[in-house]
Amino acid sequence: MAEVKVPDIGDFDEVPVIEIHVSEGDEVEVEQPLVTLESDKATMDVPSPEAGTVKEVLVSVNDKVSEGTPIVVLEGGEEDSDEGSDAAEEDDEGSDGSGEDEEGSDATEEDEAPRGEDEEPVPSGEDSAEDEEPDSPDTDTESRDRPDTSDNSDARREEEPEGKRVVVLGSGPGGYTAAFRAADLGLEVTLVERHERIGGVCLNVGCIPSKALLHAANVVAEAEDAAEFGLSFPDPEIDLDKLRSWKEDVVSKLTGGLDGLAKKRKVTITRGEAKFTSENELEVDGETIEFDHAIIAAGSRAAMLPDLPEDERIVDSTGALELPDVPDSLLVVGGGIIGLEMASVYEALGSKVTVVEMTDQLIPGCDPDLVKPLAKRVADRYEAIHLDTKVASVEAGDDGIEVSFQGEDAPDPQTFDRILVAVGRRANGDLLEIEAAGVEVNERGEIEVGPDRRTNVSHIYAIGDVTGAPMLAHKATHEGKVAAERIAGHDVVFEPRAIPSVAYTDPEVAWCGLTETEAKEHGTEYETAVFPWQASGRALSLGRPEGMTKLLVDPESRQIIGAGIVGPNAGDLIAEVCLAMEMSADAEDIGLTIHPHPTLSETVAFAAEMAEGTITDLYAPRKG
Ligand SMILES: Cc1cc2nc3c(=O)[nH]c(=O)nc-3n(C[C@H](O)[C@H](O)[C@H](O)COP(=O)(O)OP(=O)(O)OC[C@H]3O[C@@H](n4cnc5c(N)ncnc54)[C@H](O)[C@@H]3O)c2cc1C
Repeated sequence: MAEVKVPDIGDFDEVPVIEIHVSEGDEVEVEQPLVTLESDKATMDVPSPEAGTVKEVLVSVNDKVSEGTPIVVLEGGEEDSDEGSDAAEEDDEGSDGSGEDEEGSDATEEDEAPRGEDEEPVPSGEDSAEDEEPDSPDTDTESRDRPDTSDNSDARREEEPEGKRVVVLGSGPGGYTAAFRAADLGLEVTLVERHERIGGVCLNVGCIPSKALLHAANVVAEAEDAAEFGLSFPDPEIDLDKLRSWKEDVVSKLTGGLDGLAKKRKVTITRGEAKFTSENELEVDGETIEFDHAIIAAGSRAAMLPDLPEDERIVDSTGALELPDVPDSLLVVGGGIIGLEMASVYEALGSKVTVVEMTDQLIPGCDPDLVKPLAKRVADRYEAIHLDTKVASVEAGDDGIEVSFQGEDAPDPQTFDRILVAVGRRANGDLLEIEAAGVEVNERGEIEVGPDRRTNVSHIYAIGDVTGAPMLAHKATHEGKVAAERIAGHDVVFEPRAIPSVAYTDPEVAWCGLTETEAKEHGTEYETAVFPWQASGRALSLGRPEGMTKLLVDPESRQIIGAGIVGPNAGDLIAEVCLAMEMSADAEDIGLTIHPHPTLSETVAFAAEMAEGTITDLYAPRKG
């Protein structure tokens, strides 16, 4: 007989029990949730540390519990359950957070895990949402995924070999998704990760921490903007330690949740640096792992400028996300999405930000009309933005980093307190000794794959950033599912019509499908329909009329072939157009869909009405 107690639940004390999942006499499995607790930040299940019979439930709904409170008496359990549940042990494993980069390579690489995180064994909100027993394996995914219509006659593609052992190399959004999906489909999965914390760049040093800090930046900017309609606030007092630990808290919750999800699915996590030794073997820190199929999800690392001095004041995005201080002056090298997102954060916190970009616009690759409102807003807020300008030299001095520039309108040399280098990312395919498996890697470190995500070696797949652009988490996750399902015998391929790109700047910029720039380059026939947000009641009431929603429409079929949105929440709004494109919707379908009023989502419908000439909220010349 053993008492199961509330494990270490981080900083929380006296949290209420909101649900009890077991009663006296119930047989429970190891990891089966016993009760659910709720803090002000997340809900969390307390799982059974072992299998047994519930002899007594010691708590009721709404009881307040803390670490060590007994919740259930379990018969058949071991007497040593004083330690709390497995969830606590599991998290202790992850509490190192040292993020040692065994490669011994560039210490500033993006894929280095954050250090000294305050680990918390709290399953994430995400986890709790999925905390019920995993759905029974879905063996009929063809209706969701696109069936493989590609010509698979390519000689290199052989039949999928027999065998259930799958190794997934890398635990970022691509890797963990592939691993979990494969496990749900009945495969035996080992997930290999060189860092203590799983979740890859996205969760640890990418999407999630950057968005947490951007939220803080947006709060500052909104408070300033409110002066326009009569609400003035004093300058914010910034407690950098608190901001940093809040960001780390968000990250810990998500990565801790992933550990729990892996355990539930019986995915084995092996920590260490993986290298291929043959086409069916990996070596992880001296241990050999044999596999029938492998999915490479090794991600990417920050590209650095050549010949930079070694100096802690020169950082990449990982270094910038650590928020070591708020420098008086910051030079951001690279006016792409990552550079501009980090620029927003530091500017809001008080740095004087200068951006240098070698092409002629911010966010290269995005349509210029979408970038314009962002460029205008940041021009007012930043110290300077130098387009068509390159960094010529960088020297570390006692008083700062001295930088000289090159370009027709290049400014004079200047000294900055800190430099953030955000000049793109390089795929990690060249770090895996993958030639031992016969897998081809190109000179950019990318592994080339077919629509089924198979490499040139038929039982080895590659997904996510390691396969090249676009380097986006949501692309990686979808590819991960395709690879896992393929191995499980499903006839699916990765052939999306729209992969959205989003800059979470202020204003946000989002686009998907064909851009106007691409359409012009390729001579593709298209029509544009633009709805300016000056005519959106919601945008005006937010004090943000500078946005616009643009649809690209096929003149023949009237189907949507691309879209771009700039304005607050553009990243959320673009999802509707992605769905429309996947469903082959035409502009009329969107225009006839009733959107809630007054919302920014209406701007998508209004743009569709512009395309069809049925708009009434603006005057547009009649069509047809
Ligand atoms: C600052 C920043 C912000 C970003 N914001 C966004 C965003 O808002 N939205 C978005 O979609 N994308 C964003 N991205 C990009 C996103 O993070 C990546 O596209 C995504 O993480 C790629 O996922 P992945 O699974 O391919 O690889 P990764 O997330 O890079 O994971 C690869 C994993 O493999 C491990 N690994 C590599 N080699 C080995 C080895 N030999 N042995 C063992 N383990 C190994 C690595 O340690 C890593 O954990 C951002 C990136 C950065 C840097």
